[in-house]
Amino acid sequence: MKKFYVTTAIDYVNSEPHIGHAYQKIIADVLARWHKNKGEDVFFLTGTDEHGQKVANSAKEKGKSPKAFVDGLAPKFEKAWNLLDVGFDRFIRTTDKDHEEKVKEFVDLVNKKGDIYKGEYKGLYCEGCEAYITEKDLVDGKCKFHPNKEVKELSEEAYFFRLSKYEKKLLELYDKHPEYILPSFRRKEIINRVKEGLRDLNMTRLKESMDWGIDFPLDDKNVIYVWFEALLNYITGIGWPDDKKFKKFWPADVELLGIDNGWFHCVIWPAMLMSLGIKPAKTILINGFLTFNGQKISKSLGNSISPNELVKKYGADTIRYYVCRNFVFGQDGDFSEKELVSRYNNELADKLGNLVSRVAGLIERNGVERCEVKLLKKLKEKEIDKKMESFEFDKALNEIFAFIDVCNEYVQNKKPWETKDKKILYELKESILKISELLWPFIPSSAEKIKKQFSAKKIVKGEVLFRKI
Ligand SMILES: [Zn+2]
Repeated sequence: MKKFYVTTAIDYVNSEPHIGHAYQKIIADVLARWHKNKGEDVFFLTGTDEHGQKVANSAKEKGKSPKAFVDGLAPKFEKAWNLLDVGFDRFIRTTDKDHEEKVKEFVDLVNKKGDIYKGEYKGLYCEGCEAYITEKDLVDGKCKFHPNKEVKELSEEAYFFRLSKYEKKLLELYDKHPEYILPSFRRKEIINRVKEGLRDLNMTRLKESMDWGIDFPLDDKNVIYVWFEALLNYITGIGWPDDKKFKKFWPADVELLGIDNGWFHCVIWPAMLMSLGIKPAKTILINGFLTFNGQKISKSLGNSISPNELVKKYGADTIRYYVCRNFVFGQDGDFSEKELVSRYNNELADKLGNLVSRVAGLIERNGVERCEVKLLKKLKEKEIDKKMESFEFDKALNEIFAFIDVCNEYVQNKKPWETKDKKILYELKESILKISELLWPFIPSSAEKIKKQFSAKKIVKGEVLFRKI
């Protein structure tokens, strides 16, 4: 059986989940469900990144221990994804015991390969990124992702991972596998930066300056740098090295992440794997950033950006549909509630909802008679598959809705309310069942209702699926 393994960035738990986090999880879930629909064996991993300076600082501000602090926040992420029908197979926390143990095992093995050495690190550090950054990353003296934070100068004894050793191998990987980094405009950015040369990675922090991390197995005065261990979740989460899940699902088919994590995932992560001779993921898929009603997503927007509040207001399916249909995947976009409502009314309610309720009512009164379903020939299924394979979710939905239009016109032209033609109604019933199958990855709960309604022995009109807002 074909397998499909999809992962997301694990969210840094220094604040509550917001719609930007949710967008990526929805996309991962759509992919997971799409491949389940194809009969594949699917594993979907998501979770939270819980160590490091930022978490330690936020915990301190709240007067909590880091562990108590993350224990309070991690379940909020899990709950938010549950409310959005994001059906992950494991929610990994980097404070999980199995993760911590396997990370140490990984570090030991990398050391045995001769890829770790002791040295001194001097450099600029951005606490927002939890990363050393170079002069080149600065815009007006500040980190480009964190213009409100001061960049600090740090100097400490540290252990290094020989990242520079993998420069050539990485460039070969990008060259031989253009699908490794998508969308392709992101690929070029990464390649250009790698070509400028790689510096070895400081992979530890001295406990005396920051001790909220996993113990560094080679020297107990240190903890492992948060990024180095967090990246490993993609393999520890499926039981690296000898669990049968790891053997079956690795390498990941798609690793989803935001561009702020691009460097770590496209450069450091594959180099870490290369050190142990483990294959990298097949595709690193980079999503764009969202703004919310035209504003940058930030704490000051308060509850309005909470996925839970949005689900309460519009329902999970509406949000899922909107983000998949409205944005060109990979580009930045604006989550606009006005646009969401308009797509909901015009597309889900008027097109899909109308078709479903009209046909169900006609079948309730007239019944169906089995026949060849010519109508389905107008569905461009191969085209839809292609769009999904190339992560063009908006275009895939466009094709599905083009077929919904075809079905609505079919009702209009064939006038089954006059002709009482049971064969026409059978064709429409089968077409609607197919539509529900294709829409299931995007709007699972509504699609399941439609499927149930149209698979029943006695089809009845039932409730309105999408009440207009
Ligand atoms: Zn930063």
